Amino acid sequence: MYPGMAELIRAGRFDICYSRCTFDPRRMIYRSGYNGRRINLFKVLLSSDCKFDCSYCQNAWRKGETISPEELAEIFRSMKEKGMVSGAFISSAVNADPDRVMERILEAGRLIRRFHTGYLHLKIIPGCSKDYIKEAVEIANRVSINLETTSESRMSEISGVKLFKEDILRKQRMIAKCVDMKRKEGYRRSHTTQIIAGLGETDGEILDLMNKEYEEFGIARFYISRFQPLKFTPFEKRRAESQRRIINLYRMDALLRMYDYPISLLKEVMVDGFLPPTDPKMAIAEKIIKEFKDGQDGREIDLANDCGFQLLPEMIPGCGKKISQMLREGKSLAEIKRMGYSIKRISAYSKGQKRIYEF
Ligand code: SF4
Repeated sequence: MYPGMAELIRAGRFDICYSRCTFDPRRMIYRSGYNGRRINLFKVLLSSDCKFDCSYCQNAWRKGETISPEELAEIFRSMKEKGMVSGAFISSAVNADPDRVMERILEAGRLIRRFHTGYLHLKIIPGCSKDYIKEAVEIANRVSINLETTSESRMSEISGVKLFKEDILRKQRMIAKCVDMKRKEGYRRSHTTQIIAGLGETDGEILDLMNKEYEEFGIARFYISRFQPLKFTPFEKRRAESQRRIINLYRMDALLRMYDYPISLLKEVMVDGFLPPTDPKMAIAEKIIKEFKDGQDGREIDLANDCGFQLLPEMIPGCGKKISQMLREGKSLAEIKRMGYSIKRISAYSKGQKRIYEF
């Protein structure tokens, strides 16, 4: 293996989403999810040498490694033949003009497509031209461009080079159009994005951006990386973001993406722009119940009969898509439990083992 290859593979770990992607340092592979399947990924940078100046990223502040698209494709071929990986994710630091970097990513993608029909993810470099985006969407199953943060002003605090609107959001609009066109032709294509949580932004800012990304750009996933201070960077003395916040941000993402919670409801439980430390789904349920109780002027209420309509099955903590569907079909909690599902959390919101309409 090319001597700098390990560094180029390891460098990809700062781009993991903490949702379902993990890095196995022993085998130098990543495990990720795609279309509900777990796949072993060859996730690698073509270069870890960057001309940009992101204050949290080591690639900007020390000399990195660079590999050719041919070498990269050959290493992937050999790992694939050994059964170590079944998909590839090619990214790169910006070691030249953005178009030149995209050309190298595309070249690696083209070479890989000669022998690999499976999962291929290509990173889009901020500031690159539309033609490169178009070709990346032709070649790859999935493309992504990293937002890194929530706004133009936040971006100016972390980089003096990258322009949030011009280099990233504008390119994302192009990506969305290209992905849409390919889908209309019957191809399975998607695009995702990522931010780093812990660079001064609030949860409310993340929520607004997340909502815009799903609504306007039709992204498949909004990934969240945890800020970790790295040596040799201007942010090396900053505090690392807590894992607990990342978990709650992903819970917020699920409520928005899978359960269609209005953003106003999510914002109602925020304090000074931040989610409470508890599960936001639980905080919202508690708030709805409390408000209903308060509205009863101290009168003893029967949650079962009075409040049930306000808390839809999928809004009950512990109640996922499957259980809420069963509750809608009229199954009792006892029946659901007998089917092997945990009803521990849901039980706290029920009177005995009654049916959903009696919550
Ligand atoms: S563009 Fe920024 S985040 Fe990306 S590799 Fe370069 S310095 Fe790091």
